[in-house]
Amino acid sequence: VQDIAQRPAAAAKLATIRRWDQDDPLRAFRDRFELPPGKVYLDGNSLGALSTDARERLDHVTRAEWGQSLIESWNTHDWFGAPERIGAKLARLLGAQPDEVIVCDTTSINLFKLIRTALALRPDRAVILSEPGNFPTDLYVIEGAIAGDGARELRLETPERLIDAIDSRTALVLLTHVHYKTAAMHDVHAIMKRAHEHGALVLWDLSHSAGAVELDLDAARADMAVGCGYKYLNGGPGAPAFLYLHRMHHNAASSPLCGWMGHARPFDFTDHYEPAAGMRRYLCGTPSALSLAPLEASIEMLLAAGMQRLAAKSRTLTQLFIDLVADSATLAGLRLATPADPARRGSHVSYAHAEGFAIMSALIAQGVIGDFRAPDILRFGFTPLYTRYEDVWTAVRKLEHVIATDDWKRPEFARRCSVT
Ligand SMILES: *Cc1c(COP(=O)(O)O)cnc(C)c1O
Repeated sequence: VQDIAQRPAAAAKLATIRRWDQDDPLRAFRDRFELPPGKVYLDGNSLGALSTDARERLDHVTRAEWGQSLIESWNTHDWFGAPERIGAKLARLLGAQPDEVIVCDTTSINLFKLIRTALALRPDRAVILSEPGNFPTDLYVIEGAIAGDGARELRLETPERLIDAIDSRTALVLLTHVHYKTAAMHDVHAIMKRAHEHGALVLWDLSHSAGAVELDLDAARADMAVGCGYKYLNGGPGAPAFLYLHRMHHNAASSPLCGWMGHARPFDFTDHYEPAAGMRRYLCGTPSALSLAPLEASIEMLLAAGMQRLAAKSRTLTQLFIDLVADSATLAGLRLATPADPARRGSHVSYAHAEGFAIMSALIAQGVIGDFRAPDILRFGFTPLYTRYEDVWTAVRKLEHVIATDDWKRPEFARRCSVT
């Protein structure tokens, strides 16, 4: 690592990269994250890092609200309104209206609610379209949502064929906007246009998009969306997810999970379910007050940073990584699995390599944390809020080291844990 940095061309490049960090308008946000010293964290697309803002908010809600105000907090600290209040803030990152987003449950559960909503809105259409290799939970939840319903079927079409496959039999198209493995990004406007021409609905999974790329759900007249709170939104492990429904569909169908928190008047304790108006009917049970606290603080940070600046830095970070890898003869065995065009990718970069698992394990041992996705993908996430350009440089130099020295061939790097 040292040797390379001392070569004149490399030293000049490194100096340029350090200048980019100096001039980065988002630079101050990094200091608000509690990152482990000496590590380069490139997995914020899977679990966002802890910020001091998030930790302090959690601490406050725990001690001052739960600890001191106890049950009164549902009213006095508006725990009851938190799913809508945080949804309204998040809406600004998604290009949505404040009353179109609610924060609750998990992405998987919210997928179920919206798939069933879509099927209720299109009762006479048989087909749900998705793509092979979509994130597993999306496909599994579709299977579960239509199980026992002989009138519906799931059809998988590759991205090249997908648009043409949308027709008058299509009830719903369910796609992950930024692919979790390749970071390939679908063209929302093109898909929405075709879907609406044929009367089909579209449900977007924004798990790898929210907080990473610019979104304009309303302008695209996107019907529905879901996404995770713990990836680029930095809400913490297992943070509540979100659910978006365009105003044009409000009150037209109900959630299939008719819990009391989605009732129009939960504290009337009546025997019959009557859905609340708007997004609140998509709540099921009691909001997770503690888990919502760090998520709210984290979303406020993203709003302060500005989605346009975040997205611009994301494109520069990913491009720098791709360029540095391409410039390295040592890394010629890695095959770029992410679109080269920054307009067509999200905020992570993936490479295919037959020994991907061992290489990533060896790299993690060197302090550069990315992850591995079976069967052969090395994945590197670049969170614009806290990743420095110099981190990108360090990651590439360490990756070169792992490959040049055959370090990855050590037996301990072949062992797999239950989470990769
Ligand atoms: C991470 C991810 C999920 C996770 O769903 P959970 O219900 O939070 O486990 C869902 N969809 C996509 C596309 C993801 O990347």
